[in-house]
Amino acid sequence: MDFIKQIWETVLDTLSDRYSDIVMKLWFRKMNLTHLDENNAYISVDNEHKLKIIENKYKDELKTLLEECLGFPVGISFYVEGAEELEDFFYNEPHAPNQKELESYNINYEYTFDNFVIGSSNKFTHAACLAVAKTPARAYNPLFIHGPSGLGKTHLLFAIKNEAKRLRPNLKVVYVKGEDFTNQLVDAIAEKKPIIFREKYRNCDMLLVDDVQFIAGKEATQEEFFHTFNALYEQSKQIILTSDRPPKDIKDLNDRIKTRFESGLITDITPPDYELRAAILKRKATIIGIDLPQEVVAFLAESIRSNVRQLEGAVKKLSAFNFINKVPITVELAKDILVDVMSGDEPTSVTVDKVLSAVSNKYNIDRDELFSKKRNSEIVKARNVSIYLIKTLTDMTLVAIGRMFNRDHSTIVNSLSNIEKEIKSSSDFAHEIEEINEDIRSLV
Ligand code: ADP
Ligand code: MG
Repeated sequence: MDFIKQIWETVLDTLSDRYSDIVMKLWFRKMNLTHLDENNAYISVDNEHKLKIIENKYKDELKTLLEECLGFPVGISFYVEGAEELEDFFYNEPHAPNQKELESYNINYEYTFDNFVIGSSNKFTHAACLAVAKTPARAYNPLFIHGPSGLGKTHLLFAIKNEAKRLRPNLKVVYVKGEDFTNQLVDAIAEKKPIIFREKYRNCDMLLVDDVQFIAGKEATQEEFFHTFNALYEQSKQIILTSDRPPKDIKDLNDRIKTRFESGLITDITPPDYELRAAILKRKATIIGIDLPQEVVAFLAESIRSNVRQLEGAVKKLSAFNFINKVPITVELAKDILVDVMSGDEPTSVTVDKVLSAVSNKYNIDRDELFSKKRNSEIVKARNVSIYLIKTLTDMTLVAIGRMFNRDHSTIVNSLSNIEKEIKSSSDFAHEIEEINEDIRSLV
């Protein structure tokens, strides 16, 4: 499959987990990713009327999904299939890589045990997953995996699914995200089809629930989930759950569900150490098919400490740059892409939260004071640094930052230029900012 098709298939796959067949048929399967250059993804749409709706309704989601696949930010341009100006545009556009070039650029997204790199922070969990895939409902039931975002929980669930299906092709394996379980249940009730919902979940041989923390606090969902769990468990069907924290720390999770979760094996994944980070970088580079010089591996493994998704994003982005712009992969290039990679794949709110924590820690100031009207020099400095870091690490607009700090546009512009000047004039201060940046990177 060529590169563009593969990317689009991956996007459609994810969407089909989120949307009903009808929505898929009516909307997404009528679109096509047709061209890609270093700035834009071009998506064809079947008619003008739909184009407007899609722009409003699905653009952001498509953008996020495409960026996840590509590992670098892209704009999205929709166009109506057959519209002439665009055809012209594509054929005359001198910088867009041609189809042949893109075809040779292949990425393998397989979430298998083979592609999972083992180190001290995940080897126990990996072994438990392998055992469950090989002998479902014998080894550990349920298996509960927890750990912060981006450390391979979803990868392992799919690895279990793939391996279990490879060994027993008839095994009915159902994968669902906690959030989708909730949404599907709501839909099923609204459409008066709870039976179909129940059948799907209670008649499988293996149920994988990803990010199960999302069911907390939702009464009807938890009730349904509890019965699903029991039905499966009593028939000795394997249940595997992931969450960003252990059961005891999931707020508003029903006690009886908590007890069920705690009755099997609970295992965690912690952030990778240097060796594992380097090994993952090398493996991802091999999968993508690029050569990462040792010094680039060392630089990235030092810089990206807590999130494998970001390590992967860095490799993808380097590879895309190398491929599209024909520039060599060097430490310089790696430095350039780092800020994007570090902020690119987590929600802005998470990055903002990390900035505020790191800054308030560094200057020993309460978070609230950063937003206050206080004007003493320590607080003003910390506030300006926060504004500067949020501006550089996220794509929040100045207006949005102003709103957040309850300040007008010109005040924000002033804050930014003060910090920029200070960074240029004082290497101590530049260093201080670099340290805060480091702290932000190491926050999980
Ligand atoms: P989580 O579900 O914990 O948030 P994911 O499973 O989505 O994390 O992992 C994020 C990315 O990092 C995925 O692309 C996954 O393949 C990759 N990844 C995480 N851990 C490993 C590992 N040990 N070896 C190879 N890839 C990994
Ligand atoms: Mg996940």
